[in-house]
Amino acid sequence: MYHAIVIGAGATGNYVAYRLASQGYKVLVLEEHEQVGEPVRCAGIIGAECLNRFPLFEGAVLREVNSAKLFSPSGRELRVWKDSVQAYIVDRAAFDRALAERAQGQGAHYLLGSRVQDIAVLDDGVKVEVEGQGREKIFEGEAAVIASGFGSTLPLKLGLGRVDDLVVGAQAEVSIDDGGEIEVYLDQEVASGFYAWLVPTCENKALVGLFSRQNPGDSLRNLLSSLFLRGKIASPDADITYGGIPLRPLPQTYMKRLLVVGDAAGQVKPTTGGGIYYGLLCAEIAVDTLHQAFSTNKPSPKLFASYEKRWKQRIGRELRIGYLARRLYERLSNRHIDQIFDIVESRGIHEALLKSPALSFDWHSGVILTGLRHLDPWRHLFGWRKNPLRGKV
Ligand SMILES: Cc1cc2nc3c(=O)[nH]c(=O)nc-3n(C[C@H](O)[C@H](O)[C@H](O)COP(=O)(O)OP(=O)(O)OC[C@H]3O[C@@H](n4cnc5c(N)ncnc54)[C@H](O)[C@@H]3O)c2cc1C
Repeated sequence: MYHAIVIGAGATGNYVAYRLASQGYKVLVLEEHEQVGEPVRCAGIIGAECLNRFPLFEGAVLREVNSAKLFSPSGRELRVWKDSVQAYIVDRAAFDRALAERAQGQGAHYLLGSRVQDIAVLDDGVKVEVEGQGREKIFEGEAAVIASGFGSTLPLKLGLGRVDDLVVGAQAEVSIDDGGEIEVYLDQEVASGFYAWLVPTCENKALVGLFSRQNPGDSLRNLLSSLFLRGKIASPDADITYGGIPLRPLPQTYMKRLLVVGDAAGQVKPTTGGGIYYGLLCAEIAVDTLHQAFSTNKPSPKLFASYEKRWKQRIGRELRIGYLARRLYERLSNRHIDQIFDIVESRGIHEALLKSPALSFDWHSGVILTGLRHLDPWRHLFGWRKNPLRGKV
């Protein structure tokens, strides 16, 4: 009998396993793929705050980042930078593998190629049904953690509901001449409702990708052709991988003896789609909750419910404001986006934002609210009768 059975060996599952195993708990991790970290569905950009708080990435860091260029549909450019390192680009597969090795080093047991089909949550424990290598097996534990990422059906099967808004992304690795700055393209025709990126990683390689409400695959192929014609990448031909992100939290992220963390719980920034930091922050709360549960003979349902209360206190406001801003952005036309670039550049807002402590890689509500205050006098340009966030935050 295990203390905890963790489903999914991604960033959050490995972290939960590592921390619980370090505290002496018996942990089983079940991962459906044969290799941890593969396939990669991530650009690997992690804020400096995340690395400072979770110093687990060092071996996987490819580059430091302190600036990025944002491009409007008509090609206007805004450069954002700070003197200090703001983010790191990591080899995401190497990061997941290293974290899994740490967990194994602390005694966590990993079963790869093991897809969890079902979970039974009972009064005195959990039973997890696994299919792998043609066999079915049941594992028993005191509690389970669903860390199975985007699109997992396990929470729905348990009656925890489903994420009601999501977006699909597409990404490809390409060759480039030299590793410049990260480029972000804000253009509704390139990435409908979202944005596209070119992230130089290492050794003349870059990741080009986008999130889009419409046809991410076709959109990415068009972007690759356009970047090739502009001489930014060496070839428009590349293998495309797909992955999604939740834009809203799961309606319920706990049951007695079960917690849901990471993408499966919808703990992702709706502004950028970055999920590693928020997932790890919530995984930390999950570990603390389970530690309390294992320390008492009869853990109360209230204890498991406190997990959701605590993670919402930590990131709930960011998710709400970020989602509203995202919906607002989706209503803008390319002309509006160009107008916003103009306003930000011409009114000194750009300089003010660069100096403002509100400009943070991981926490966006401050900059969203500051930006909207500055845009308020021009709201007629966008057809807004009132500030769209007023009364909602
Ligand atoms: C194109 C793209 C780019 C992104 N770029 C970034 C970025 O630059 N920075 C950032 O912070 N975030 C980024 N993200 C988001 C980030 O990848 C996720 O937020 C993060 O991976 C979530 O971690 P997780 O542990 O919750 O889930 P995952 O990393 O998805 O791990 C879930 C694991 O569970 C396994 N699994 C699923 N179902 C089962 C099952 N039934 N049984 C057993 N195992 C199962 C999966 O195989 C997987 O290994 C990006 C996402 C996409 C799609």
